[in-house]
Amino acid sequence: MNSAEFRKAAHSAIDEIVDYYDTIQDRRVVSNVEPGYLRKLLPSGPPEEGEQWADIQKDIEAKIMPGLTHWQSPNFMAFFPSNATYPSMLGELYSAAFHAPAFNWLCSPAITELETVVLDWLARILYLPDCFLSEGEGGGVIQGSASEAIVTVMVAARERYLTAACENLEGKEKEDKRTQTMGRLVALGSEQSHSGTAKAAIITGVRYRSMPCRLQDDLALTGHQLRAALEQCASEGLEPFYLTTTLGTTATCAIDRFDEIRAVVDSIQSLEKIWIHVDAAYAGAALVCEEYAHLTKDFVAFDSFEMNMHKWLLTNFDAGCLFVRKRKDLTSALSITPSYLQNPFSDKGLVTDYRDWQIPLGRRFRALKIWFVLRTYGINGLKAHIRNHIQLGESFARWVRQREDLFRILTPPAFALTVFTLALPAHTDSWLPNGDTNVKVNEGLVTADYLPETSTDQLERANALTKTVYERINAAGGIFLTSSVVEGVYAIRVVSGSERTDEVHLRKAFDILVKTTKEMFRKR
Ligand code: PLP
Repeated sequence: MNSAEFRKAAHSAIDEIVDYYDTIQDRRVVSNVEPGYLRKLLPSGPPEEGEQWADIQKDIEAKIMPGLTHWQSPNFMAFFPSNATYPSMLGELYSAAFHAPAFNWLCSPAITELETVVLDWLARILYLPDCFLSEGEGGGVIQGSASEAIVTVMVAARERYLTAACENLEGKEKEDKRTQTMGRLVALGSEQSHSGTAKAAIITGVRYRSMPCRLQDDLALTGHQLRAALEQCASEGLEPFYLTTTLGTTATCAIDRFDEIRAVVDSIQSLEKIWIHVDAAYAGAALVCEEYAHLTKDFVAFDSFEMNMHKWLLTNFDAGCLFVRKRKDLTSALSITPSYLQNPFSDKGLVTDYRDWQIPLGRRFRALKIWFVLRTYGINGLKAHIRNHIQLGESFARWVRQREDLFRILTPPAFALTVFTLALPAHTDSWLPNGDTNVKVNEGLVTADYLPETSTDQLERANALTKTVYERINAAGGIFLTSSVVEGVYAIRVVSGSERTDEVHLRKAFDILVKTTKEMFRKR
């Protein structure tokens, strides 16, 4: 493809993309193709001779589109949002064009320096404590995902812990101590932590323990649970070295009790410190609004914080923003400099080489899209985006509450997420899901936490009803929701976070929920 052909093809592609966005709400949200659909539509190998762009482009609509789930649709209310925006796409386009895997500063000084600058901007607008700024001992780095960030900081935490444990030792003595300590290390999270922490423990080669969270505590990790876990570890001879705390858990957007966690950790700190990471992958975006700034006050005592701009902050995947209080913790753990990576700037320590802050060597120019987004929307535009969704979420939760004959809110609505179940009709025995009497949800896991007066049988019945309604709605395809099982309770999650979602879309979702539920609550 020469320059003239590229210009023509790119214009045509952009036209198609804009048309896609302008009509996205008319498409079925979730794809309903059968597994393996695409292989049947494609030839068994690539063409012998190159094809024209116009022919290739035609296959986007014909072959790819049917297999897409439209995350940018205003009717997508599942998982957490993953915003894509035009300024961010332009950032991706330039990044692809420059295509410079800038692992060292010298590989493209602008790529490294823009990343440092925009992450400092971001730290400030998220009201993070100054210790996370690059001007001090901290700083930010863009990672592929929240999970990747957790692996990265867990490795740094492990190395910091082992280095402290082996201080003043040399040779075999040091090696033995390191090996013995390694066998006792345990990473901690809560039952509501994202699975990325358990996975990171597998990758890091350490044990993992998750602490219970109770519905009475709104599923937050409390200081009490942490203290109990630390005591349990001590009694087993285990050494906790790392803890994931969460601002906005995946299932219900719970906020761990940072003040209590800080107090517990402060009271037990010894030479070998527990690394505390704040996983704010989704809800961290809300920190741009000053009404949430109080949530960050304890972070000054924590080691790292991560939020994904690629979830709720208008930036295309991937833009995981990790901040550390001491960048040396990362670089000490991850810096290896073979001769082919040496250069005078790095050798003199004059520059940041982001390869020492991450697992891979090469990296993309991701700061560009963040820069474009921050400049296009401005701080006020970002705040307006978040507040709009918070307000939409509150309206939705209010409608759910108003229909207590049909629904019951499970956990406090937060960050535009509402988590609810179906309410059991008064005479529960006379109500069964139509045609779905064999639905069994999460057998054996039901707990008495969810409404003390609810019996196990009633809970299983409510679970089955909720699951049936949820599955019927998603099968119909007008909107897309997700569910989660929390403490044995099967719940529906509705979250509004697409740039195009408006009250009318949430109202439509609510009406679908009411209609589907009523249809099922037909008295037998
Ligand atoms: N942490 C939380 C709280 C999440 O909700 C999620 C995903 O939704 C993740 C981590 C994982 O994010 P990523 O896909 O960026 O690894």
